[in-house]
Amino acid sequence: MNPDLHTHSTASDGTLSPTALVELARQKSVTHLALSDHDTIAGLTEAAIAAQQAGITFIPGVEISVTWQKKLFHIVGLNINQTNNELNEGLITLQSIRLKRAQLMGERLAKRKITGMFELAQQLAGEGMITRTHFARALVEKGYAPDVGAVFGSYLKPGKPGYVSTEWAALDEVIGWINGAGGVAVIAHPGRYRLSGSWMRRFLTAFKEAGGSGIEVVYGQANPLDITNSRRQALAFDLRGSIGSDFHTPENRWSRLGCLPALPEGVQPIWELFQ
Ligand code: AMP
Ligand code: MN
Ligand code: MN
Ligand code: MN
Repeated sequence: MNPDLHTHSTASDGTLSPTALVELARQKSVTHLALSDHDTIAGLTEAAIAAQQAGITFIPGVEISVTWQKKLFHIVGLNINQTNNELNEGLITLQSIRLKRAQLMGERLAKRKITGMFELAQQLAGEGMITRTHFARALVEKGYAPDVGAVFGSYLKPGKPGYVSTEWAALDEVIGWINGAGGVAVIAHPGRYRLSGSWMRRFLTAFKEAGGSGIEVVYGQANPLDITNSRRQALAFDLRGSIGSDFHTPENRWSRLGCLPALPEGVQPIWELFQ
């Protein structure tokens, strides 16, 4: 089997529609695909229909923005029931936080004489959830930086002119929404938070106590050392392992769809929990 349980579409900051994403997954021989857009489930119905036609097992997902101890984390919910009320209400709250943040980002940039970015980012997001990636694309389009990565470095990271610090949802609340919707909660890309060993242990303890089930052991940007670390964390905290590329666009080399290694030895796969 070839699972890829963390991907994005035009419902948030991916560049492929849910249907085009599924078509690429089919070309890459993905057997189990989860769509996990940022704080939205708007792409799931379209993806599920396309996956059924492509003969791919589809796992409905979402990647939720969390603030825990003033730090940002991403929690992927997998195998969720997308009609669940509390989950939908929670995501609506996050959507309004995102919109407010985007307006503030536009105002911050305008103070630096970079005007019209909220409007352009919103246009680029279309009906999808607005993210910093859309601002990055807007700034590239207007010639403020050569590429998306450079925009993050110069404008969108903490301490930079377009950055707005945001209070996202609480960790236990988000795990409650996911579990309440019949899903499982998974820590996304653990190596990307740059936490010390003791902070990581505190986070893993809180995640586990709140009812979290898994951790991405194999993920898009993970190098062999990252995989060794996340394997150890999975075993120490009795967490299931997930595999997810964090695919956003075919142009990006470090998060290619459906090309990930298998789970390392001893890690129990998260997908065994899906009915
Ligand atoms: P947001 O959730 O709106 O803060 O946007 C976060 C998204 O921005 C991530 O999911 C990535 O897709 C993208 N992102 C974050 N940092 C970078 C970076 N350094 N280079 C390119 N994309 C980034
Ligand atoms: Mn993203
Ligand atoms: Mn993420
Ligand atoms: Mn992601």
